[in-house]
Amino acid sequence: MRLASRNGRAFVLRDESSGWDLESASGGRFPADPMAMYGRVAEIRQWLAAHAGAGAAAETVRPQELDAPVPKPGTIVAIGLNYAEHAAEAGFEAPTELPPVFAKFPSSITGAYGEIALPPGGTTDWEVEAVAVVGAPLHDVAPEDVFDHLAGLTIGQDISERTRQLSGPAPQFGLAKSYPGFSPIGPWVVTLDEFDDPDDLRLGCSVDGETVQDGTTAKLLFSIPRSLSELSKVITLQPGDLVFTGTPDGVGMGLNPPRYLASGQVLETWIDGIGRMRHVFR
Ligand code: ZN
Repeated sequence: MRLASRNGRAFVLRDESSGWDLESASGGRFPADPMAMYGRVAEIRQWLAAHAGAGAAAETVRPQELDAPVPKPGTIVAIGLNYAEHAAEAGFEAPTELPPVFAKFPSSITGAYGEIALPPGGTTDWEVEAVAVVGAPLHDVAPEDVFDHLAGLTIGQDISERTRQLSGPAPQFGLAKSYPGFSPIGPWVVTLDEFDDPDDLRLGCSVDGETVQDGTTAKLLFSIPRSLSELSKVITLQPGDLVFTGTPDGVGMGLNPPRYLASGQVLETWIDGIGRMRHVFR
């Protein structure tokens, strides 16, 4: 099952090209607010099985018509240096304790298609990431119980303005990664039952058609269950909160010479089993 937002309304897909407006198809049993889906995934799945099983006609939809599936997360946590090769290219030791954690601000959320404005600085960079969407309050949860607390997974880009991120007396991760559009997600949230192995997802991105990142979440230093378990020892995550789980190697900052996004360039991002995003920078 895929959970999405179309014109700001909750939309549930049974496959990549058809589904239902959740509020109207359910006769008001579920609200139109997409944020309300993530704490009720089991209930929606049950409803969908009965609804689709009864032969209700679905609407066709293209991923380009969808907006951000999680438009207003309360909290966005991002994990840094969670792949050994990326830590090395960024010039850091690989962490042995929980990797560094920072916040992205929710005003940076955008959908899986569209344009993203380049801020001043000239050093805007890409970071493909698997993004966990929380489905139940998560506090002090053991790794083996984390997946039971997730609504699903989506594709994310942790877009980063490197000059702002790294200059000054202390790094500015939160601001440098929170310009408008710097947290694109989507095109939908895929529930965990759809994955053969949610700990082994191939992910990557390309700039103007040239693949720059190609990795797998199997190489995360702290797997999704382990990193969320560690986070949950401190903070409490709520349904609809997001965790960006870290990027593999191949970011522009790590190339020799470094490469950054320029106006007109196209960034395509994918995770096998979820789908693709496509953004143009201006
Ligand atoms: Zn990142």
